[in-house]
Amino acid sequence: MVDVPVLKNYINGEWIESNSTDIREVRNPATGEVIAKVPMSTVEETEDAIKAANKAFARWRRTIPVTRARYFFEMKTLMEEKFEELARQVVIENGKTIDEARGEIRRGIENVELATGIPSLMMGYNAEDVAVDIDEMVIRQPMGVFFCLAPFNFPSMVPLWFLPTAVATGNTFILKPSPIAPMSSMKLFELIDELGFPPGVINLVHGDVDSANTLLDSPGTKGVSFVGSTPVGRIVYERAAANGKRAQIQAGAKNFLLVMPDADLERTASALMTSCYGCAGERCLAGAVILAMDEIHDSLVKTLVDRAKIIRVGNGLEEGVHMGPVITAKAKARTIDFIERALKEGANLLVDGRDVKVEGHPNGFFVGPTIFGDVKPDMCIAQEEIFGPVMSIIKVKSYEEALKIISASPYGNAASIFTSSGKWARKFGYEVEAGNIGINIGIAAPVAHFPFSGMKDSFFGDLHGQGKDGIRFFTEDKVVITRWF
Ligand code: NAD
Repeated sequence: MVDVPVLKNYINGEWIESNSTDIREVRNPATGEVIAKVPMSTVEETEDAIKAANKAFARWRRTIPVTRARYFFEMKTLMEEKFEELARQVVIENGKTIDEARGEIRRGIENVELATGIPSLMMGYNAEDVAVDIDEMVIRQPMGVFFCLAPFNFPSMVPLWFLPTAVATGNTFILKPSPIAPMSSMKLFELIDELGFPPGVINLVHGDVDSANTLLDSPGTKGVSFVGSTPVGRIVYERAAANGKRAQIQAGAKNFLLVMPDADLERTASALMTSCYGCAGERCLAGAVILAMDEIHDSLVKTLVDRAKIIRVGNGLEEGVHMGPVITAKAKARTIDFIERALKEGANLLVDGRDVKVEGHPNGFFVGPTIFGDVKPDMCIAQEEIFGPVMSIIKVKSYEEALKIISASPYGNAASIFTSSGKWARKFGYEVEAGNIGINIGIAAPVAHFPFSGMKDSFFGDLHGQGKDGIRFFTEDKVVITRWF
């Protein structure tokens, strides 16, 4: 193993070395180099974090919301100061471009900003005279220890979808980052340490399945915010439910983008390119399948192919690079396997990203932009989540045919329509079963004060992350009915 530091846990306000003998390598996907080692924390270490968070809860929930919120005003200031450093760390462990990483940090900060409004956002409501001389009110109370199981693809933003709201509402928190991209969390926790939260309020435990299961099975935790793939999300949802916990499970996706004949061709093409190739296709909101209406199909395909050919693939830290690598050698092999399966199924490979070479980076996990034409709805590339830079184009004859294809997908994370007709736009928003709908938007990503939705196999639970949903997820409504004699 290469000599790089082993990442520490952050428990009860202290950086603690893990005793685990199960240690994995973290690689920079652009260079293939090992950049850190991450321990799979032991059951005892995960339990230590749960104990610390429970102990801290008693005082933290009594800390007044205005005081709790002030920590997040300061956290925002620190994040602004360290903005570039935070973004660079995302690039180094995840591979996305520096501009994409800046966007990620900005979205994370917006969630910190949301938490500064907690004193008013978590207010309940009341009514006078529900019966003679009797008043009734709802108060929202924090519940205890919440935890997040995070994915690799937004290693900084996803933890921030939950941590600020959970903690500002008065809960204590444990983050278990992705073992593939755990270093951005370290950067966030350096700031959290500097902010001086009381020990145990916010904790970090590295690990994978075993740590997740310890958190899920413990009577010392109240709920889980999971973001990751659908098969794992389903397991986590079931285990959380069996243990009587709250769960918000944001899962995998296959997103369809419908282009109507009256769409603005140039601007639509730009949006489709960003949607499919932004973050090398490793976004849960990434466009995967373009449904092109007959009338616009040929000109759209030509425009997309021309643009895909000039995408510059490379190390995301270099300015002028449009697309970085995928996350691991395994992810690269999986993407190439999809391309080969699609070829066998008869799809027409219009742009082939398999053999892309990046100068100076012989060991990076690069896949170039890939486009398939003549795709049929039952092909693997039209059905399964690839999570790589592969665009599949299906020609459709009518809006109804497109709707049928979208409705047949088990996923319902996002869907977009490109049109200049209000009628089609409204119909699409009304009829399509997907949580995040874009009207002439390629990546329908809700801002912090709106819920990040998802339907069907893309979301399990009731209350989504962010917005009012997030506040309700992290609080319990209590009804107080009052009469004074
Ligand atoms: P993943 O499912 O492999 O891992 C997610 C988390 O679950 C990690 O922290 C991992 O350690 C943990 N985990 C893995 N196996 C587990 C198990 N058996 N029990 C408990 N926990 C377990 O996901 P990933 O590959 O890191 O992320 C990519 C996926 O995330 C894609 O499918 C993408 O669509 C999805 N995603 C969804 C959203 C959304 O909001 N819907 C956002 C981002 C990413």
